[in-house]
Amino acid sequence: MSAAIIDGKEFAARVRAKVAAHVDRLKADHGLTPGLAVVLVGEDPASQVYVRSKGKQTLEVGMNSFEHKLADDISESELLAVIDRLNRDPDVHGILVQLPLPAHLDSDLVINAIDPAKDVDGFHISNVGLLGTGQKSMVPCTPLGCLMMLRDYHGDLSGMHAVVVGRSNIVGKPMAQLLLGDSCTVTIAHSRTKDLPAMCRSADILVAAVGRPEMIPGDWVKPGATVIDVGINRVERDGRNKLVGDVHFDSAAAVAGAITPVPGGVGPMTIACLLANTVTAACRANGLSEPEGLTA
Ligand code: NAP
Repeated sequence: MSAAIIDGKEFAARVRAKVAAHVDRLKADHGLTPGLAVVLVGEDPASQVYVRSKGKQTLEVGMNSFEHKLADDISESELLAVIDRLNRDPDVHGILVQLPLPAHLDSDLVINAIDPAKDVDGFHISNVGLLGTGQKSMVPCTPLGCLMMLRDYHGDLSGMHAVVVGRSNIVGKPMAQLLLGDSCTVTIAHSRTKDLPAMCRSADILVAAVGRPEMIPGDWVKPGATVIDVGINRVERDGRNKLVGDVHFDSAAAVAGAITPVPGGVGPMTIACLLANTVTAACRANGLSEPEGLTA
């Protein structure tokens, strides 16, 4: 292996420490405690794990955590009423509705009912529009974490060719917008892209957000490129469950200049960025200066 490892676990700990220090200052100087409300509908086991972890990390950085666990047969109007209450609650600066929602609920409708200023997931249509037009917005956590790691590793991203494989609303598209905002030349690839290997080989920065275990092998990677692997795929190897990314780590690490591992790369950055977005939202809501380096 020749690539430098971009350690997301260590980086996320640094982001959380920055958030905690800013929360301390907000409490001491302004009597303000940022608060994050997480809404979980139903009993999906993976979602329960995420929500628990979000709540725990929110408390660890000194913020208030409000958990709203709702029955999986809740009606849309009841859920919208909960969101309306949270929108109007001055102690709540960030609202996150854990996805996916049960099928009878319209996710777009629910997400777009969140006050955009409290939309710490950055999925509200207003925030999508603001990001797309280069204006100040709440930025989706996973791509924000990737951007922070790329800026930290490279400094200036200007002029680099970034290829983002995947065009989802939660990862691929906002990732591409953020890289464009940092003056990369950006290509978005997807399942209909012709000659994906050649496209990937042209990337100085290759972001994989596909959801297919180890789909991208080392010979798709340009020598010296930086590889950001967003994929989280559970596979069975030698009778044991294992997490792997969308990139074949060993072969890619042999050619890349730098690479994020799975686990321990992008994953830990997502919740760290959720905390960062909550403190940013609390500052904006109170007309206070935002912490530096915690947003795009
Ligand atoms: P998604 O909504 O399923 O989107 C996957 C994208 O990959 C689609 O745009 C799809 O193209 C493209 N794709 C699928 N097969 C392809 C192929 N053979 N060649 C080229 N492109 C292909 O997934 P997502 O929500 O963006 O998530 C992607 C991965 O990131 C998943 O593994 C997920 O678990 C992980 N993830 C991690 C975090 C984290 O915290 N680290 C957060 C979110 C997601 P089409 O649009 O043409 O179908």
